[in-house]
Amino acid sequence: MDDVIIIGCGVVGAACAYALSRYELNVTVLEAGSDIAAGTTKANSAIIHAGYDPVPGTDMAKMNLEGSNMAGDICRRLDVPYERVGSLVLAFDDADLQCLQTLLKRGQTNGVEGLKLLSGEETRAMEPNVSGQVLGALWAPTAAIINPWEYCLAMAETAVKNGVRLRRNCCVTGIRREQDGFLVTTTRGEFNAKYLINAAGVHADAVHELIGEKEFTICPSRGEYYLLDKCEGQRVRHVIFQCPGKEGKGILVSPTVHGNLIVGPTASPCAPEDVSNTAEGLRQVRERALKSVPTIAFRENIRNFAGVRAASDIPDFIVRESRSVPGFFQAAGICSPGLSAAPSIAKRLTELLARSGLELREKTEYDDSRRRLRFTRLSDGEKNNLIAKDPRFGRVICRCETITEGEIVACLHTPIPPYSINGVKRRVGAGMGRCQGGFCSPRVQEIIARELHMDPVDVMLEEEGSYILTGETKGGGKNGL
Ligand SMILES: Cc1cc2nc3c(=O)[nH]c(=O)nc-3n(C[C@H](O)[C@H](O)[C@H](O)COP(=O)(O)OP(=O)(O)OC[C@H]3O[C@@H](n4cnc5c(N)ncnc54)[C@H](O)[C@@H]3O)c2cc1C
Repeated sequence: MDDVIIIGCGVVGAACAYALSRYELNVTVLEAGSDIAAGTTKANSAIIHAGYDPVPGTDMAKMNLEGSNMAGDICRRLDVPYERVGSLVLAFDDADLQCLQTLLKRGQTNGVEGLKLLSGEETRAMEPNVSGQVLGALWAPTAAIINPWEYCLAMAETAVKNGVRLRRNCCVTGIRREQDGFLVTTTRGEFNAKYLINAAGVHADAVHELIGEKEFTICPSRGEYYLLDKCEGQRVRHVIFQCPGKEGKGILVSPTVHGNLIVGPTASPCAPEDVSNTAEGLRQVRERALKSVPTIAFRENIRNFAGVRAASDIPDFIVRESRSVPGFFQAAGICSPGLSAAPSIAKRLTELLARSGLELREKTEYDDSRRRLRFTRLSDGEKNNLIAKDPRFGRVICRCETITEGEIVACLHTPIPPYSINGVKRRVGAGMGRCQGGFCSPRVQEIIARELHMDPVDVMLEEEGSYILTGETKGGGKNGL
Protein backbone atom coordinates (compact mmCIF):
# COMPACT_ATOMS: atom_id res chain seq x y z
CA MET A 1 0.00 0.00 0.00
CA ASP A 2 1.23 3.51 -0.84
CA ASP A 3 1.32 6.28 1.70
CA VAL A 4 0.09 8.79 -0.88
CA ILE A 5 -1.41 8.56 -4.36
CA ILE A 6 -1.41 11.76 -6.42
CA ILE A 7 -4.07 11.88 -9.15
CA GLY A 8 -2.90 13.96 -12.13
CA CYS A 9 0.57 14.98 -13.24
CA GLY A 10 0.36 18.56 -14.38
CA VAL A 11 2.52 21.12 -12.63
CA VAL A 12 0.52 20.80 -9.38
CA GLY A 13 0.73 16.99 -9.19
CA ALA A 14 4.42 17.15 -10.14
CA ALA A 15 5.13 19.77 -7.46
CA CYS A 16 3.39 17.54 -4.89
CA ALA A 17 5.43 14.52 -6.02
CA TYR A 18 8.63 16.58 -5.82
CA ALA A 19 7.80 17.85 -2.32
CA LEU A 20 6.87 14.39 -0.98
CA SER A 21 9.85 12.66 -2.61
CA ARG A 22 12.11 14.19 0.07
CA TYR A 23 10.58 11.93 2.70
CA GLU A 24 10.69 8.20 3.45
CA LEU A 25 7.30 7.57 1.84
CA ASN A 26 5.78 5.37 -0.82
CA VAL A 27 4.22 7.71 -3.35
CA THR A 28 2.58 6.93 -6.70
CA VAL A 29 1.37 9.41 -9.31
CA LEU A 30 -1.49 8.28 -11.58
CA GLU A 31 -1.78 10.23 -14.82
CA ALA A 32 -4.59 9.65 -17.32
CA GLY A 33 -2.59 10.88 -20.31
CA SER A 34 0.26 9.15 -22.10
CA ASP A 35 2.56 11.96 -20.99
CA ILE A 36 2.80 14.36 -18.10
CA ALA A 37 2.52 18.17 -18.41
CA ALA A 38 0.13 17.67 -21.32
CA GLY A 39 -2.98 19.32 -19.81
CA THR A 40 -3.31 23.01 -18.89
CA THR A 41 0.35 22.97 -17.83
CA LYS A 42 1.48 22.92 -21.47
CA ALA A 43 -0.85 25.67 -22.73
CA ASN A 44 -0.73 28.88 -20.73
CA SER A 45 1.03 32.27 -20.73
CA ALA A 46 4.15 30.84 -19.03
CA ILE A 47 4.42 33.71 -16.56
CA ILE A 48 5.48 33.44 -12.94
CA HIS A 49 3.26 36.25 -11.73
CA ALA A 50 4.58 38.78 -9.26
CA GLY A 51 1.40 38.50 -7.14
CA TYR A 52 -0.33 41.92 -7.19
CA ASP A 53 -3.48 40.62 -8.87
CA PRO A 54 -5.09 38.16 -6.38
CA VAL A 55 -7.32 39.54 -3.62
CA PRO A 56 -5.33 39.93 -0.38
CA GLY A 57 -5.96 37.27 2.23
CA THR A 58 -6.93 34.57 -0.29
CA ASP A 59 -4.94 31.37 -0.74
CA MET A 60 -4.42 32.53 -4.32
CA ALA A 61 -2.59 35.63 -3.07
CA LYS A 62 -0.49 33.79 -0.48
CA MET A 63 0.39 30.90 -2.76
CA ASN A 64 1.11 33.11 -5.77
CA LEU A 65 3.66 35.06 -3.76
CA GLU A 66 5.26 32.08 -2.03
CA GLY A 67 5.27 29.97 -5.20
CA SER A 68 6.77 32.78 -7.21
CA ASN A 69 9.53 33.18 -4.59
CA MET A 70 10.23 29.42 -4.68
CA ALA A 71 10.19 29.09 -8.48
CA GLY A 72 13.54 30.81 -9.15
CA ASP A 73 15.42 28.47 -6.78
CA ILE A 74 13.72 25.35 -8.11
CA CYS A 75 14.53 26.37 -11.69
CA ARG A 76 18.18 26.97 -10.83
CA ARG A 77 18.47 23.60 -9.09
CA LEU A 78 16.66 21.65 -11.79
CA ASP A 79 17.99 23.51 -14.84
CA VAL A 80 14.67 24.92 -16.04
CA PRO A 81 14.65 28.04 -18.25
CA TYR A 82 13.45 30.96 -16.10
CA GLU A 83 14.04 34.68 -16.63
CA ARG A 84 13.02 37.44 -14.24
CA VAL A 85 12.14 39.98 -16.93
CA GLY A 86 9.52 41.91 -14.91
CA SER A 87 6.05 42.96 -15.99
CA LEU A 88 4.22 46.16 -16.87
CA VAL A 89 0.46 46.72 -16.56
CA LEU A 90 -0.46 49.50 -18.98
CA ALA A 91 -3.02 52.26 -18.37
CA PHE A 92 -4.80 53.95 -21.27
CA ASP A 93 -7.32 56.18 -19.44
CA ASP A 94 -8.29 57.51 -16.01
CA ALA A 95 -10.13 54.33 -15.05
CA ASP A 96 -6.98 52.32 -15.84
CA LEU A 97 -4.83 54.72 -13.81
CA GLN A 98 -7.22 54.13 -10.90
CA CYS A 99 -6.88 50.38 -11.47
CA LEU A 100 -3.07 50.67 -11.26
CA GLN A 101 -3.45 52.31 -7.83
CA THR A 102 -5.66 49.41 -6.70
CA LEU A 103 -3.16 46.84 -8.02
CA LEU A 104 -0.28 48.67 -6.35
CA LYS A 105 -2.07 48.63 -2.97
CA ARG A 106 -3.09 45.00 -3.39
CA GLY A 107 0.44 44.03 -4.33
CA GLN A 108 1.91 45.87 -1.36
CA THR A 109 -0.60 44.17 0.97
CA ASN A 110 0.27 40.80 -0.59
CA GLY A 111 3.98 41.50 0.05
CA VAL A 112 5.15 41.91 -3.56
CA GLU A 113 8.52 43.66 -3.65
CA GLY A 114 9.68 46.47 -5.91
CA LEU A 115 6.30 47.60 -7.31
CA LYS A 116 6.41 51.07 -8.84
CA LEU A 117 4.08 53.34 -10.80
CA LEU A 118 5.58 54.77 -13.98
CA SER A 119 4.52 57.65 -16.22
CA GLY A 120 3.80 57.12 -19.91
CA GLU A 121 7.27 58.46 -20.81
CA GLU A 122 9.00 56.22 -18.27
CA THR A 123 7.07 53.25 -19.60
CA ARG A 124 8.07 53.96 -23.20
CA ALA A 125 11.68 54.50 -22.13
CA MET A 126 11.67 50.94 -20.74
CA GLU A 127 9.60 49.45 -23.52
CA PRO A 128 9.85 51.58 -26.70
CA ASN A 129 7.29 49.57 -28.71
CA VAL A 130 4.31 50.15 -26.41
CA SER A 131 1.59 52.44 -27.69
CA GLY A 132 1.93 56.21 -27.63
CA GLN A 133 -1.51 56.21 -25.94
CA VAL A 134 -0.12 54.67 -22.73
CA LEU A 135 -0.55 57.08 -19.80
CA GLY A 136 1.30 55.05 -17.19
CA ALA A 137 2.11 51.57 -15.95
CA LEU A 138 2.63 49.44 -12.88
CA TRP A 139 6.15 47.96 -12.90
CA ALA A 140 6.62 44.61 -11.14
CA PRO A 141 10.29 43.56 -11.31
CA THR A 142 9.73 40.10 -9.76
CA ALA A 143 7.53 38.71 -12.58
CA ALA A 144 9.31 36.05 -14.61
CA ILE A 145 8.93 33.95 -17.75
CA ILE A 146 9.46 30.21 -17.60
CA ASN A 147 9.22 27.02 -19.64
CA PRO A 148 6.06 25.64 -17.97
CA TRP A 149 6.20 22.06 -19.21
CA GLU A 150 9.90 21.70 -18.45
CA TYR A 151 9.17 23.04 -14.93
CA CYS A 152 6.63 20.24 -14.48
CA LEU A 153 8.87 17.61 -16.09
CA ALA A 154 11.88 18.62 -14.02
CA MET A 155 9.98 18.30 -10.73
CA ALA A 156 8.40 15.00 -11.78
CA GLU A 157 11.72 13.57 -13.07
CA THR A 158 13.43 14.49 -9.80
CA ALA A 159 10.61 12.87 -7.83
CA VAL A 160 10.87 9.67 -9.92
CA LYS A 161 14.67 9.65 -9.57
CA ASN A 162 14.12 9.74 -5.82
CA GLY A 163 11.71 6.81 -5.70
CA VAL A 164 8.24 8.13 -6.64
CA ARG A 165 6.39 5.82 -9.05
CA LEU A 166 4.61 7.32 -12.07
CA ARG A 167 1.93 5.43 -13.99
CA ARG A 168 0.82 6.93 -17.29
CA ASN A 169 -2.26 6.05 -19.36
CA CYS A 170 -3.76 5.40 -15.94
CA CYS A 171 -7.07 7.21 -15.64
CA VAL A 172 -8.69 7.07 -12.19
CA THR A 173 -12.24 5.80 -12.63
CA GLY A 174 -13.28 4.86 -9.09
CA ILE A 175 -12.33 5.48 -5.46
CA ARG A 176 -13.52 3.41 -2.51
CA ARG A 177 -12.88 3.78 1.19
CA GLU A 178 -11.23 0.75 2.77
CA GLN A 179 -10.55 0.15 6.42
CA ASP A 180 -7.05 1.68 6.39
CA GLY A 181 -7.16 3.96 3.35
CA PHE A 182 -8.47 4.01 -0.21
CA LEU A 183 -8.82 1.61 -3.11
CA VAL A 184 -8.31 3.48 -6.38
CA THR A 185 -9.57 1.86 -9.57
CA THR A 186 -7.96 2.92 -12.83
CA THR A 187 -7.86 1.94 -16.49
CA ARG A 188 -4.65 0.04 -15.63
CA GLY A 189 -5.58 -1.80 -12.47
CA GLU A 190 -6.13 -1.08 -8.79
CA PHE A 191 -3.95 0.85 -6.34
CA ASN A 192 -4.14 1.31 -2.56
CA ALA A 193 -3.06 4.27 -0.47
CA LYS A 194 -3.57 5.78 2.96
CA TYR A 195 -3.98 9.29 1.55
CA LEU A 196 -5.01 10.75 -1.81
CA ILE A 197 -4.25 14.06 -3.49
CA ASN A 198 -6.58 15.22 -6.24
CA ALA A 199 -4.61 17.31 -8.77
CA ALA A 200 -6.79 16.44 -11.76
CA GLY A 201 -7.08 19.96 -13.22
CA VAL A 202 -10.26 20.47 -15.24
CA HIS A 203 -11.54 17.08 -13.98
CA ALA A 204 -10.92 17.76 -10.29
CA ASP A 205 -14.65 18.02 -9.50
CA ALA A 206 -15.41 14.71 -11.25
CA VAL A 207 -12.53 13.00 -9.45
CA HIS A 208 -13.67 14.38 -6.08
CA GLU A 209 -17.18 13.13 -6.73
CA LEU A 210 -15.96 9.59 -7.39
CA ILE A 211 -16.23 9.29 -3.61
CA GLY A 212 -17.04 12.69 -2.06
CA GLU A 213 -20.14 14.86 -1.95
CA LYS A 214 -20.27 17.82 -4.33
CA GLU A 215 -18.21 20.65 -2.82
CA PHE A 216 -17.23 22.64 -5.91
CA THR A 217 -17.79 22.72 -9.65
CA ILE A 218 -15.07 23.37 -12.21
CA CYS A 219 -16.13 26.05 -14.72
CA PRO A 220 -13.64 25.64 -17.59
CA SER A 221 -12.62 28.71 -19.54
CA ARG A 222 -10.59 28.61 -22.73
CA GLY A 223 -7.77 31.01 -23.57
CA GLU A 224 -6.55 31.32 -27.16
CA TYR A 225 -3.06 32.39 -28.23
CA TYR A 226 -0.73 33.40 -31.02
CA LEU A 227 2.89 32.26 -30.89
CA LEU A 228 5.08 34.38 -33.13
CA ASP A 229 8.42 33.48 -34.67
CA LYS A 230 11.72 34.51 -33.13
CA CYS A 231 12.04 37.52 -35.44
CA GLU A 232 9.24 39.03 -33.28
CA GLY A 233 10.77 37.80 -30.00
CA GLN A 234 12.43 41.15 -29.27
CA ARG A 235 9.28 43.19 -29.90
CA VAL A 236 8.98 43.60 -26.11
CA ARG A 237 11.46 42.87 -23.34
CA HIS A 238 9.01 42.61 -20.45
CA VAL A 239 5.62 40.98 -19.92
CA ILE A 240 3.07 43.55 -21.07
CA PHE A 241 -0.40 43.34 -19.49
CA GLN A 242 -3.47 45.50 -19.78
CA CYS A 243 -5.60 46.26 -16.71
CA PRO A 244 -7.46 43.14 -15.53
CA GLY A 245 -11.21 43.05 -16.13
CA LYS A 246 -14.11 40.67 -15.65
CA GLU A 247 -12.38 38.24 -18.03
CA GLY A 248 -9.27 38.01 -15.85
CA LYS A 249 -5.80 39.33 -16.56
CA GLY A 250 -6.62 40.22 -20.16
CA ILE A 251 -4.46 40.02 -23.26
CA LEU A 252 -0.71 40.04 -22.68
CA VAL A 253 2.25 40.40 -25.00
CA SER A 254 5.38 38.67 -23.73
CA PRO A 255 8.73 37.31 -24.77
CA THR A 256 9.13 33.57 -24.11
CA VAL A 257 12.17 31.77 -22.73
CA HIS A 258 12.51 30.18 -26.17
CA GLY A 259 12.91 33.60 -27.82
CA ASN A 260 9.42 33.81 -29.38
CA LEU A 261 6.61 36.29 -28.72
CA ILE A 262 3.41 35.00 -27.10
CA VAL A 263 0.18 36.97 -27.43
CA GLY A 264 -3.12 36.13 -25.71
CA PRO A 265 -5.20 34.73 -24.04
CA THR A 266 -8.94 35.20 -24.47
CA ALA A 267 -11.43 33.90 -21.87
CA SER A 268 -14.56 32.04 -22.93
CA PRO A 269 -16.54 29.25 -21.25
CA CYS A 270 -15.91 25.85 -22.83
CA ALA A 271 -16.04 22.09 -22.37
CA PRO A 272 -13.24 20.75 -20.09
CA GLU A 273 -10.93 19.67 -22.90
CA ASP A 274 -11.91 22.03 -25.69
CA VAL A 275 -8.61 23.47 -26.85
CA SER A 276 -9.83 24.59 -30.25
CA ASN A 277 -9.03 27.95 -31.76
CA THR A 278 -11.76 30.16 -33.19
CA ALA A 279 -11.65 32.97 -35.76
CA GLU A 280 -13.42 35.27 -33.29
CA GLY A 281 -11.06 34.43 -30.41
CA LEU A 282 -7.99 35.08 -32.54
CA ARG A 283 -9.48 38.32 -33.88
CA GLN A 284 -9.95 39.52 -30.29
CA VAL A 285 -6.36 38.63 -29.43
CA ARG A 286 -5.00 40.61 -32.40
CA GLU A 287 -7.20 43.63 -31.83
CA ARG A 288 -6.53 43.93 -28.09
CA ALA A 289 -2.81 43.19 -28.31
CA LEU A 290 -2.30 45.88 -30.97
CA LYS A 291 -3.72 48.40 -28.49
CA SER A 292 -0.70 47.68 -26.24
CA VAL A 293 1.95 47.13 -28.91
CA PRO A 294 0.78 48.49 -32.30
CA THR A 295 3.73 47.12 -34.30
CA ILE A 296 3.30 43.37 -33.62
CA ALA A 297 3.73 41.58 -36.98
CA PHE A 298 1.05 38.88 -36.75
CA ARG A 299 2.11 37.56 -40.16
CA GLU A 300 5.08 36.02 -38.29
CA ASN A 301 2.68 33.71 -36.47
CA ILE A 302 3.95 30.12 -36.30
CA ARG A 303 1.24 28.55 -34.16
CA ASN A 304 -2.12 29.15 -32.55
CA PHE A 305 -3.12 27.16 -29.51
CA ALA A 306 -5.51 27.26 -26.57
CA GLY A 307 -5.46 26.22 -22.92
CA VAL A 308 -8.33 25.60 -20.51
CA ARG A 309 -8.43 27.26 -17.08
CA ALA A 310 -9.77 25.01 -14.32
CA ALA A 311 -11.51 27.85 -12.45
CA SER A 312 -14.20 26.75 -9.99
CA ASP A 313 -17.39 28.26 -8.56
CA ILE A 314 -15.35 29.19 -5.45
CA PRO A 315 -13.36 32.40 -6.03
CA ASP A 316 -10.11 30.97 -4.66
CA PHE A 317 -7.86 27.92 -4.97
CA ILE A 318 -9.31 24.90 -3.14
CA VAL A 319 -6.33 23.44 -1.28
CA ARG A 320 -7.73 21.48 1.63
CA GLU A 321 -8.92 18.11 2.89
CA SER A 322 -12.26 17.07 1.43
CA ARG A 323 -15.07 17.96 3.85
CA SER A 324 -16.87 14.70 3.21
CA VAL A 325 -13.88 12.35 2.83
CA PRO A 326 -11.09 12.60 5.44
CA GLY A 327 -7.71 11.67 3.99
CA PHE A 328 -8.65 12.90 0.48
CA PHE A 329 -6.82 16.18 -0.21
CA GLN A 330 -7.84 18.61 -2.95
CA ALA A 331 -5.77 20.86 -5.20
CA ALA A 332 -8.76 22.06 -7.22
CA GLY A 333 -9.88 25.23 -8.94
CA ILE A 334 -6.23 25.85 -9.79
CA CYS A 335 -6.70 28.46 -12.47
CA SER A 336 -4.16 31.22 -13.07
CA PRO A 337 -1.81 31.84 -11.20
CA GLY A 338 -1.56 28.08 -10.62
CA LEU A 339 1.73 27.70 -12.48
CA SER A 340 3.26 30.36 -10.22
CA ALA A 341 1.69 28.91 -7.08
CA ALA A 342 2.37 25.17 -7.67
CA PRO A 343 5.31 24.70 -5.25
CA SER A 344 3.42 26.57 -2.55
CA ILE A 345 0.29 24.46 -3.13
CA ALA A 346 2.48 21.36 -2.71
CA LYS A 347 3.99 22.77 0.48
CA ARG A 348 0.53 23.43 1.95
CA LEU A 349 -0.68 19.93 1.08
CA THR A 350 2.44 18.38 2.62
CA GLU A 351 1.73 20.30 5.84
CA LEU A 352 -1.93 19.21 5.81
CA LEU A 353 -0.92 15.57 5.27
CA ALA A 354 1.49 15.80 8.21
CA ARG A 355 -1.22 17.29 10.40
CA SER A 356 -3.47 14.45 9.40
CA GLY A 357 -0.95 11.88 10.68
CA LEU A 358 1.44 11.23 7.76
CA GLU A 359 4.91 10.83 9.22
CA LEU A 360 7.50 12.94 7.36
CA ARG A 361 11.04 11.57 7.85
CA GLU A 362 13.55 13.21 5.53
CA LYS A 363 15.59 10.87 3.34
CA THR A 364 19.26 10.80 4.22
CA GLU A 365 20.14 10.65 0.54
CA TYR A 366 18.26 12.85 -1.87
CA ASP A 367 19.33 13.90 -5.36
CA ASP A 368 17.92 17.38 -5.85
CA SER A 369 19.63 18.19 -9.12
CA ARG A 370 19.01 17.82 -12.82
CA ARG A 371 20.96 18.90 -15.88
CA ARG A 372 19.82 18.92 -19.49
CA LEU A 373 22.31 19.25 -22.28
CA ARG A 374 21.34 22.14 -24.57
CA PHE A 375 23.59 21.89 -27.62
CA THR A 376 23.01 25.43 -28.88
CA ARG A 377 24.19 26.87 -25.56
CA LEU A 378 27.62 25.22 -25.78
CA SER A 379 30.74 27.01 -27.00
CA ASP A 380 32.21 25.91 -30.35
CA GLY A 381 34.96 24.04 -28.50
CA GLU A 382 32.45 22.21 -26.29
CA LYS A 383 30.36 21.30 -29.36
CA ASN A 384 33.41 19.91 -31.15
CA ASN A 385 34.44 17.84 -28.12
CA LEU A 386 30.94 16.46 -27.74
CA ILE A 387 30.66 15.55 -31.43
CA ALA A 388 34.07 13.85 -31.30
CA LYS A 389 32.82 11.68 -28.41
CA ASP A 390 29.37 11.04 -29.86
CA PRO A 391 28.73 11.84 -33.55
CA ARG A 392 24.97 11.88 -32.92
CA PHE A 393 25.47 15.42 -31.56
CA GLY A 394 26.74 16.37 -35.00
CA ARG A 395 23.49 15.39 -36.71
CA VAL A 396 20.94 18.20 -36.55
CA ILE A 397 17.42 16.78 -36.65
CA CYS A 398 15.37 19.93 -36.01
CA ARG A 399 16.85 22.55 -38.30
CA CYS A 400 14.73 25.44 -37.04
CA GLU A 401 15.81 25.01 -33.40
CA THR A 402 19.16 23.23 -34.02
CA ILE A 403 18.24 20.16 -31.98
CA THR A 404 20.62 17.24 -32.45
CA GLU A 405 20.01 13.52 -32.58
CA GLY A 406 22.15 13.22 -29.43
CA GLU A 407 19.72 15.40 -27.46
CA ILE A 408 16.70 13.46 -28.71
CA VAL A 409 18.29 10.13 -27.82
CA ALA A 410 19.24 11.47 -24.37
CA CYS A 411 15.67 12.53 -23.60
CA LEU A 412 14.40 9.07 -24.54
CA HIS A 413 16.49 7.64 -21.70
CA THR A 414 15.47 10.07 -18.92
CA PRO A 415 13.45 8.95 -15.86
CA ILE A 416 10.21 9.86 -17.68
CA PRO A 417 10.85 9.14 -21.36
CA PRO A 418 8.48 10.45 -24.02
CA TYR A 419 6.66 8.01 -26.30
CA SER A 420 5.24 10.58 -28.72
CA ILE A 421 6.49 13.24 -31.15
CA ASN A 422 5.01 15.98 -28.97
CA GLY A 423 6.59 14.41 -25.90
CA VAL A 424 10.02 14.81 -27.54
CA LYS A 425 9.08 18.34 -28.56
CA ARG A 426 8.29 19.24 -24.92
CA ARG A 427 11.56 17.74 -23.69
CA VAL A 428 14.10 19.06 -26.22
CA GLY A 429 12.27 21.56 -28.44
CA ALA A 430 12.43 19.57 -31.73
CA GLY A 431 9.49 20.82 -33.80
CA MET A 432 9.06 24.08 -31.91
CA GLY A 433 10.43 26.31 -34.62
CA ARG A 434 9.10 28.02 -37.70
CA CYS A 435 8.27 24.83 -39.61
CA GLN A 436 6.54 23.34 -36.54
CA GLY A 437 7.94 19.87 -37.13
CA GLY A 438 7.20 19.76 -40.85
CA PHE A 439 10.76 18.57 -41.57
CA CYS A 440 11.84 16.82 -38.39
CA SER A 441 8.73 14.92 -37.24
CA PRO A 442 9.35 11.84 -39.45
CA ARG A 443 12.97 11.64 -38.26
CA VAL A 444 11.92 12.06 -34.61
CA GLN A 445 9.42 9.27 -35.14
CA GLU A 446 12.16 7.00 -36.50
CA ILE A 447 14.47 7.78 -33.57
CA ILE A 448 11.73 7.08 -30.99
CA ALA A 449 10.91 3.77 -32.69
CA ARG A 450 14.57 2.77 -32.91
CA GLU A 451 15.52 3.72 -29.34
CA LEU A 452 12.40 2.38 -27.61
CA HIS A 453 12.07 -0.72 -29.83
CA MET A 454 8.63 0.31 -31.03
CA ASP A 455 6.94 -0.23 -34.35
CA PRO A 456 6.92 3.24 -36.00
CA VAL A 457 3.16 2.84 -36.45
CA ASP A 458 2.81 2.86 -32.67
CA VAL A 459 4.61 6.18 -32.27
CA MET A 460 1.80 8.68 -31.76
CA LEU A 461 1.70 12.42 -32.25
CA GLU A 462 0.40 12.83 -28.67
CA GLU A 463 -2.35 10.76 -27.02
CA GLU A 464 -3.29 7.13 -27.59
CA GLY A 465 -4.99 6.95 -30.99
CA SER A 466 -3.25 9.99 -32.53
CA TYR A 467 -1.74 7.89 -35.32
CA ILE A 468 0.63 9.47 -37.82
CA LEU A 469 1.31 6.38 -39.94
CA THR A 470 -1.22 3.74 -40.81
CA GLY A 471 -0.72 0.24 -42.21
CA GLU A 472 2.08 -2.24 -41.77
CA THR A 473 5.75 -1.47 -41.19
CA LYS A 474 8.56 -3.96 -40.95
CA GLY A 475 9.87 -5.15 -37.58
CA GLY A 476 9.61 -3.34 -34.24
CA GLY A 477 7.52 -4.23 -31.24
CA LYS A 478 4.55 -2.85 -29.36
CA ASN A 479 4.68 0.33 -27.34
CA GLY A 480 6.20 -0.77 -24.05
CA LEU A 481 4.45 1.82 -21.85
C1 LIG B 1 -5.03 30.38 -20.85
C2 LIG B 1 -4.29 30.14 -19.58
C3 LIG B 1 -3.25 30.98 -19.18
C4 LIG B 1 -2.59 30.77 -17.98
N1 LIG B 1 -1.49 31.52 -17.68
C5 LIG B 1 -0.84 31.31 -16.51
C6 LIG B 1 0.33 32.05 -16.20
O1 LIG B 1 0.87 32.79 -17.01
N2 LIG B 1 0.87 31.90 -14.97
C7 LIG B 1 0.33 31.07 -14.05
O2 LIG B 1 0.82 31.02 -12.92
N3 LIG B 1 -0.73 30.28 -14.35
C8 LIG B 1 -1.31 30.37 -15.56
N4 LIG B 1 -2.37 29.59 -15.89
C9 LIG B 1 -2.80 28.57 -14.97
C10 LIG B 1 -1.90 27.35 -14.98
O3 LIG B 1 -1.59 26.96 -16.30
C11 LIG B 1 -2.65 26.22 -14.26
O4 LIG B 1 -3.04 26.68 -12.99
C12 LIG B 1 -1.78 24.99 -14.06
O5 LIG B 1 -1.19 24.56 -15.26
C13 LIG B 1 -2.67 23.90 -13.48
O6 LIG B 1 -1.92 22.74 -13.33
P1 LIG B 1 -2.64 21.42 -12.84
O7 LIG B 1 -1.55 20.46 -12.55
O8 LIG B 1 -3.60 21.74 -11.76
O9 LIG B 1 -3.55 20.96 -14.07
P2 LIG B 1 -3.17 20.20 -15.43
O10 LIG B 1 -1.91 20.68 -16.01
O11 LIG B 1 -4.38 20.27 -16.29
O12 LIG B 1 -2.94 18.71 -14.96
C14 LIG B 1 -3.99 17.89 -14.52
C15 LIG B 1 -3.64 16.48 -14.92
O13 LIG B 1 -4.60 15.60 -14.35
C16 LIG B 1 -4.82 14.55 -15.25
N5 LIG B 1 -6.10 13.90 -14.93
C17 LIG B 1 -7.34 14.42 -15.05
N6 LIG B 1 -8.26 13.51 -14.68
C18 LIG B 1 -7.59 12.40 -14.30
C19 LIG B 1 -7.98 11.12 -13.83
N7 LIG B 1 -9.26 10.79 -13.67
N8 LIG B 1 -7.02 10.20 -13.56
C20 LIG B 1 -5.70 10.50 -13.71
N9 LIG B 1 -5.28 11.70 -14.16
C21 LIG B 1 -6.21 12.65 -14.45
C22 LIG B 1 -4.80 15.23 -16.61
O14 LIG B 1 -4.55 14.30 -17.66
C23 LIG B 1 -3.72 16.26 -16.43
O15 LIG B 1 -2.46 15.79 -16.89
C24 LIG B 1 -3.02 29.74 -17.13
C25 LIG B 1 -4.03 28.87 -17.53
C26 LIG B 1 -4.64 29.05 -18.77
C27 LIG B 1 -5.64 28.08 -19.24
